[in-house]
Amino acid sequence: MTQPPTSRPLAIVTGASRGIGRAIAVELAAAGLHVAINYRSNEAAARQTLALIDERGGTGDLCPFDVADEAAVNAALTDLFARRERIAVLVNNAGIVADGLFAMMPSADWHKVTDTSLGGFFNVTKPVIQKMIPHKTGSVVTISSVSGLIGNRGQTNYAAAKAGLIGATRALASEVARIGIRVNVVAPGIIDTDMTKDLPPDMLKKMIPMGRYGKPEEVARVVRFLCSDDASYITGQVISVNGGMV
Ligand code: NDP
Repeated sequence: MTQPPTSRPLAIVTGASRGIGRAIAVELAAAGLHVAINYRSNEAAARQTLALIDERGGTGDLCPFDVADEAAVNAALTDLFARRERIAVLVNNAGIVADGLFAMMPSADWHKVTDTSLGGFFNVTKPVIQKMIPHKTGSVVTISSVSGLIGNRGQTNYAAAKAGLIGATRALASEVARIGIRVNVVAPGIIDTDMTKDLPPDMLKKMIPMGRYGKPEEVARVVRFLCSDDASYITGQVISVNGGMV
């Protein structure tokens, strides 16, 4: 749904219909940004994100596309760019898991996980960076994972994608730092969302020094900080939000 034009700076948040992405969208809207709420298929959940933003006096639009589909991303962003002069913030949050031991992993599970996280980073970040460059300002935050830092058994696909995001971020940060664009990673530990709801909590909590899962809002507040001028000298960094796991 397209709302009336607003002068608020624009933030694009991928995977903002649920979980961490929803909390980031709500947090950035509360900080005064107009949020393009991306999702793949769950429009009802995306509308709930928009309602939460509305309730708090913020503004946003639904912006559905599959981050793994380059043509779909380009079509959606061309439409968005026609309506918006400048993109202030991009948060690459969309991600999926398809866990299994590597020796038995179907190639489809390898590709769908890497295509979403790492392919999605390329598909969305490239046109957004091109749009940011002439304005010489902008902040990109990408959601990696503790799995990309330490590797988790049963997650070679996910760990590869999430570690790849860290390398891509550091390289891109060094390319655009002088232009005034900052690029950082947030690496959450285990956060209470749909992605983790079927995992065994008692076993996992023993791995977390703080003894509990994180809340999506605890990740979102760090993303909001990295997107703000308070983080004006921070780029190419990985900030862990994991209750002390690493
Ligand atoms: P959820 O499964 O709760 O939500 C996933 C979100 O991503 C949904 O909004 C979903 O949209 C969207 N999405 C999935 N695939 C695509 C796609 N191809 N194109 C566009 N949107 C897509 O995940 P979380 O909130 O738990 O995770 C968010 C991010 O944080 C992910 O990158 C994840 O890897 C990472 N992370 C999560 C951790 C956790 O413990 N939860 C820990 C570390 C990292 P739709 O609703 O339409 O399906």
